[in-house]
Amino acid sequence: MTKYTLILLGAIGVGKGTQAQRLSRHLGIPQIATGDLLRMEGQAGTDLGRRAAEIMNRGELVPDDIIVDMVRGRLLRDDAVRGAVFDGFPRTVPQAEALDGMLKDMDLPTPHVVSIEVPESEIIERLSSRRVCVTCGAVFNVKINPAAIENHKCPKGEARVILRDDDQPETIQQRLTVYRAKTLPMVTHYREKGSFREVSGMGTEDQVFARILIAMDPDLS
Ligand code: AMP
Repeated sequence: MTKYTLILLGAIGVGKGTQAQRLSRHLGIPQIATGDLLRMEGQAGTDLGRRAAEIMNRGELVPDDIIVDMVRGRLLRDDAVRGAVFDGFPRTVPQAEALDGMLKDMDLPTPHVVSIEVPESEIIERLSSRRVCVTCGAVFNVKINPAAIENHKCPKGEARVILRDDDQPETIQQRLTVYRAKTLPMVTHYREKGSFREVSGMGTEDQVFARILIAMDPDLS
């Protein structure tokens, strides 16, 4: 049984979620997206969900211990025995250190780490035209594909598609500031370990996907 763990790094809005979904299907391992897990808690109306929503809407990070417990619980589910694609996690040095320990305990391999690079001006443009389905989480870009979401409806199930609260312009700026302060130092944690690759996030979804597979292992593409 081949096991994989893959961490997709990169600033907000570089396309980690879209690529993580595809990689999850390609490799047959689940996508673990901490932002999605937190939004699901919010929709379920749990205490954690309410507390997290307030932090997320300010563009700040949810405390490390909450995130690490949530990821541990998710990794212990049966579908993750062969590994996982991490999206939006880890985001701080303590989270990265906690993940190293968890992977060892769970007999999962050292992660491939791929960072998707996109210039900041392009990130702002992409996030302000991003819309998400409130039900299935599908992501659309109103500039690239306006027809797919006519009447603000998701083509996959007719649910509403919305601009995420934290994709409002002021919150985007705050999230980029937090990214530079808290997450960039974590990138150094992996860069120094040698399992780190950078790929350009410009171009089509297919092009970026192919670059990630080659960066992980040319045999996978
Ligand atoms: P994302 O969907 O990955 O852009 O995450 C949306 C928001 O959820 C972030 O701005 C944070 O407030 C919170 N969040 C998601 N993942 C993490 C994480 N690993 N650590 C702390 N906060 C997180």
